[in-house]
Parts: sequence; C-alpha cells; structure tokens
Amino acid sequence: MRKPIIVGNWKMNKTIAEAVEFINAVDPFCHDGATYGVATSFLALNDANKAAKNLIVAAENCHFEDNGAFTGEVSVPMLEEIGVKYCIIGHSERRQMFGDTDETVNKKAKRLIKADITPIVCIGETEAQFDAGETEKVIRDQLTGSLADLCPKCVENLVIAYEPIWAIGTGKSATKEIAQNCCHIVRDQVAKMYGDECASKVRVQYGGSVKPENIKEYMAMEDIDGALIGGASLKVDSFKELIEKT
Ligand code: PEP
Repeated sequence: MRKPIIVGNWKMNKTIAEAVEFINAVDPFCHDGATYGVATSFLALNDANKAAKNLIVAAENCHFEDNGAFTGEVSVPMLEEIGVKYCIIGHSERRQMFGDTDETVNKKAKRLIKADITPIVCIGETEAQFDAGETEKVIRDQLTGSLADLCPKCVENLVIAYEPIWAIGTGKSATKEIAQNCCHIVRDQVAKMYGDECASKVRVQYGGSVKPENIKEYMAMEDIDGALIGGASLKVDSFKELIEKT
C-alpha cells in the first residue's frame, strides 16, 4: 500500500513569520491517512521544521555539491544540519528559469539520497509538447535522465511529481484521465528502469492547478498517490480543506 503524499509548494511566498503561523494553524489537522507537507523558502526552512509536528517540511531545491564557489546556492549538508527530510528537485520553474536539467536533477537526487533526504523529482511536458503528442516521450526521457544510475531501493522511496507545465498556475488542470495516464507512464518507466516491485512502491503525484474542489478525483485514480500543489496550498482554509478531502 502506498501512503498518499500531499505537498504544498509555496515557491517564493511566505516570510518566516508567515510560514510558522501557517504551520501552527494547519499542523493539528493533519491525520495519518496521508503524508502532508509544505515546501518553504530556504530562509523559512529551519523555523518551519521546528514548528511542524505532523507536517513534513521540504526544501524547494538544493545544490549537488557539498560546498564551494556557488554563490546563492544551498547544499545538501546544510539541509541535513537543520533536519530537513524532503526536497523538491527539477521543478519546471527551476528547469525553465534557473537552468536545471535532467543531468543536474540526477546529481541532486544522488546527493539527497546519500543524506537520507527524500527527493520529490518533478517532470512534465510543455504545452507545445503536449499539443505535438510528445508527452509520453518527454516523460520517459526526463525519467531516464533524472533517475539514471540509482539503486532500486532508493527509487522506491522517492516521490515523483508529474506536472504538465501547461497546468501549473494556470487554472487549466489536466483531466483526471490525462493525469492518470501520465502517472501510469511514469510508473511504467520506473518499472522498465528498476523493475516492477520498485514501480509498485514509488509514490507518484500529480501537480497542476489542484485545489480542494478537484483533489478527490485525482486521488481516486489508480496510479496517483498524491498531489504537489502551488496556489491552493497558500491559504490556511484551503489547505485544511485539502486535508479534509484526502
Ligand atoms: C506547482 O507549483 O508545482 C503547482 C502545481 O502549482 P499550481 O498548483 O498553482 O498549479
């Protein structure tokens, strides 16, 4: 049985005080039916992690090197030091605006796994690729690169977020059938790379305009084990509703 995992991706939102206030308000409502979490800015991570009792707190990125001349970056040992247990890597915003590639995502995944931090590996196609019928190829190629040379036991413990770029922050969510089909392709590609057992255990999220009104329909699909949620994760009431509905 795969435990559902619902993570709010706050992006560049919420000061430290706002993050802690949010966590104090939402944390008591988390239940054992799923893993619930929020991904905060690097600055808010430490206080957020201390405030969270039930929520898991995730970083939104990391560097694959431990230290060195990488101005503005944060390394995995720095995350380890404050007890962070999850880290989003390869979000489409980072791929599009900050130069993340399947190769760097793979390096980050390897370094996080070594530190026992769970990577949430994001993949997904652009609107042009979707329109051109290239979605399946993009998903398989991104996974081939991002998950290269890992051990099957490591892969079964990580989280993969399938997020069509055309659905992120647009209000134009994928239909549950498209989301299911793509999450199934994700699982099938993991099976090809690391075997059926690994694929049956890895948790696959759908992300792209998920909100309290539609989360149930995604969660009911066979290959969807949770959601990565941007906009609808920012308000306490909306997050509480997401918890109630899952
Ligand atoms: C995201 O940022 O990963 C995301 C899915 O955003 P939204 O829910 O706002 O589409």
